[in-house]
Amino acid sequence: MTFSILSAAASGEGATPAWAMLAYLVAGVFFILALRGLSSPATSRSGNRNGMIGMAIAVGTTLIMHGTNLVEIGIAIGIGAILGVTIARRIAMTAMPELVAGFHSLVGLAAVVVGLAAWLNPGAFGILVPGDQIDLAGLPIREVINPVSRIELGLGIAIGAITFSGSIIAFLKLSGRMGGSPIMLPGRHVINLGTLVAILGLIALYTISPDGGAGEGWMILAIAVLAFIIGFLLIIPIGGADMPVVVSMLNSYSGWAAAAMGFTLGNSAMIITGALVGSSGAILSYIMCRAMNRSFISVIAGGFGAAPEAGGAGGAREQRPYKQGSAEDAAYMLEQAESVIIIPGYGMAVAQAQHALREMGDKLKEKGVTVKYAIHPVAGRMPGHMNVLLAEASVPYDEVFELEDINSEFAQCDVAFIIGANDVVNPAAKTDKSSPIYGMPVFDVDKAKQVFFIKRSMGGVGYAGVDNDVFYMNQTVMLLADAKKMVEEIVKSLD
Ligand code: NDP
Repeated sequence: MTFSILSAAASGEGATPAWAMLAYLVAGVFFILALRGLSSPATSRSGNRNGMIGMAIAVGTTLIMHGTNLVEIGIAIGIGAILGVTIARRIAMTAMPELVAGFHSLVGLAAVVVGLAAWLNPGAFGILVPGDQIDLAGLPIREVINPVSRIELGLGIAIGAITFSGSIIAFLKLSGRMGGSPIMLPGRHVINLGTLVAILGLIALYTISPDGGAGEGWMILAIAVLAFIIGFLLIIPIGGADMPVVVSMLNSYSGWAAAAMGFTLGNSAMIITGALVGSSGAILSYIMCRAMNRSFISVIAGGFGAAPEAGGAGGAREQRPYKQGSAEDAAYMLEQAESVIIIPGYGMAVAQAQHALREMGDKLKEKGVTVKYAIHPVAGRMPGHMNVLLAEASVPYDEVFELEDINSEFAQCDVAFIIGANDVVNPAAKTDKSSPIYGMPVFDVDKAKQVFFIKRSMGGVGYAGVDNDVFYMNQTVMLLADAKKMVEEIVKSLD
């Protein structure tokens, strides 16, 4: 906030009125409460509510402070609201990750557009100062954009453009419109580093360039184009199991882009919100990297050290013997068990099997079986995907466990019940160095006495596209069907 005041003062912009500063501060407190609420499923609704209140205060304050034409802004908000509500109603839960990536791209684009607008019409943004060139009377010939705003503007355009093109690639990969496997360009680290240095060099040149002139336009254009290119280059080499980290990292970039623009606009609320989104996204990326056993630097550098594609991916797979069972077999074994650990994955989301699953859990508990749910940090297609679905089906929170808290229990449990999960239980992550998921911690389902594995066919693979030895283990029984149908059948059999 201090920086924002400095920036506003440096740019000659009138100071933000005290009441508006106070309102922005209150909005900032609501945003922090929102993040705190979102850290647990039990408090996530109040977290969302606080976020909405904070945003209403921030937007309202900005509109009142600038005496904005409410009709024009109302029309713009109305169009956005109609689009937002339509998309939110239509979107399937399984398509949320690509939607989030798509929305991040818009934040990036908005930062680029605001940056360009500030460059084209700096007077309207209050970022002009008298230039160095003086006329015969000793007066400045023209006003130029002040150096601090030039840095903010250059950084905002660069981060925004990286976020935009990176998010578009993430959107295409997550929605399956582009292959999920890493695309490794030869010499990509040199190209990336060179492009990054060129962008920073151009920002520095733009900042110190005297009195603008025609060359400025080219610098701004070159910063934007190079940043679009590097966003693309950073995301294409990331594949398979590293996509979750990329999604949260792009979230973080979009926050920093907004914060940079907050400086240009001299808007404290934007700086606070951008910094909160940027830092929380960065922390989430770091946590996910740790959970995935990946180096944070490697992932932001763009597929640094990414493993080559595994032999089994996508290609013809070896035919190996496996056991197939029915819902009745599963129901019989489940009710005989003392303890059952359920591992949900992306397929549960596709089938929307969470309600049937909760019913199955309830029936087993009535029969005296201990039921627990094991959640992998990257199960599904977005952080917290499984937690949200289980919460929606009213699965008690105290039955839901994180990987590190439950993994040691597989050795003692009677049944590991895998429903639509695949990569997160694949032992290749522990043993096969050539696998794209190598190094990622996985559930030790191979230690359970009995494993039931629900998926639709033996042909289907998980997100990383690799075969799974768990299918062929002695104690595994494959339940080949849609997850919801299969669990409903099991519930009937339990009756
Ligand atoms: P996977 O994608 O590895 O496996 C999904 C499984 O569900 C497949 O075996 C599939 O087999 C089965 N399936 C799909 N539809 C159905 C259905 N209707 N009924 C029954 N089974 C079904 O899921 P995981 O959750 O184990 O792993 C998540 C993967 O996604 C990881 O690799 C992770 O890195 C990646 N990822 C995660 C993100 C996140 O933020 N969580 C974001 C982006 C990627 P079949 O087709 O035969 O039915």
